[in-house]
Amino acid sequence: MPRRRRPHGPPPRLPAPRRIETGPDGYDYEVRPVPAARAVKTYRCPGCDHEIRPGTAHLVVFPADMGEGAVDDRRHWHTPCWTHRATRGPTRKWS
Ligand SMILES: [Zn+2]
Repeated sequence: MPRRRRPHGPPPRLPAPRRIETGPDGYDYEVRPVPAARAVKTYRCPGCDHEIRPGTAHLVVFPADMGEGAVDDRRHWHTPCWTHRATRGPTRKWS
């Protein structure tokens, strides 16, 4: 059976909805997952102060109101560190 073109072509690829979350400092941040295949550099996670190794899927977070222009303010986080940012904020509290 020959493959027929679908009458309306492939479904339009909708842009992923922006994922806005509140950061540890109370501001809104846009959160984007970085797949392992695109993690090609070593980053410093502000949540735990450890390195994010190349090949590690993680998150990139930047101020929501600055959009793509916020390159300098982007931060790379381990996914679990971002999830637990409320209790593992960037300010280290030695007690
Ligand atoms: Zn981390």
